[in-house]
Amino acid sequence: MPLVVEVVPLLADNYAYLLVDETSGSCAVVDPGEAAPLLEPLRARGNRLDWILLTHHHTDHIGGAIELARRFRARIAGAAADADRLPPLDRRLVEGDTLALGALTVRTLATPGHTRHHIAFLVEDTQRPAQPSDLFCGDTLFIMGCGRLFEGDAATMWNTLEKLAALPETTRIWCGHEYTLANARFALSVDPDNPALRARLNEVEQLRAQGRPTVPSTIAQERATNPFLRARDPAIRRRLGLERATDAEVFAALRRAKDNFRS
Ligand SMILES: [Zn+2]
Repeated sequence: MPLVVEVVPLLADNYAYLLVDETSGSCAVVDPGEAAPLLEPLRARGNRLDWILLTHHHTDHIGGAIELARRFRARIAGAAADADRLPPLDRRLVEGDTLALGALTVRTLATPGHTRHHIAFLVEDTQRPAQPSDLFCGDTLFIMGCGRLFEGDAATMWNTLEKLAALPETTRIWCGHEYTLANARFALSVDPDNPALRARLNEVEQLRAQGRPTVPSTIAQERATNPFLRARDPAIRRRLGLERATDAEVFAALRRAKDNFRS
């Protein structure tokens, strides 16, 4: 049985995720910004919670961690380098570390940029390598967008995004916020002649009109539509007047433009 992912909306526009390995019944949550919205989904899964996985220290991603750990005797895992500003960690993770979710493997990727020690979780079914993997990337890569640079510089975030863009194209993307519509409007302002982007905007407008989440995306979709992964694209470079800049410089200009963008 592959991984089952339940999307749990909380706070204004955050997503926490409940991850279930249905073979073993093992459960994990990613980024519980508050505990209450997760209680019913966890009850429906037999009140079992093995792991609480934290991508970074911002309150809207960790606010419910301690309460959930206490109620379910779950273990908390997060970046070793951020141990002093995360809830007490039972596992201190660095790049490449893995933990088991039943038969599934949760691999740690260092993804600095939004914060200095941000990490992402790649869930792989090592017994069925043909099965697409699932990436839980917090506030690093958003659908058609990326996280703000609170602690990292543009070059750091660009390196991180290149690393994520190099994952297999079928990898599914589960991000920390529902920012998709606003991201798509900015994306169109810098990449207006991209037909894949226009088609994707139509899709996500329909999803949101029905009150549905826009996650998951895939690496293939993001490579085709996310301007922050497309710093090499000649049309985007031309539009910014940066034909001869480095990729990281184009990325930095896109990030600044998004920070100042009013749709
Ligand atoms: Zn954040």
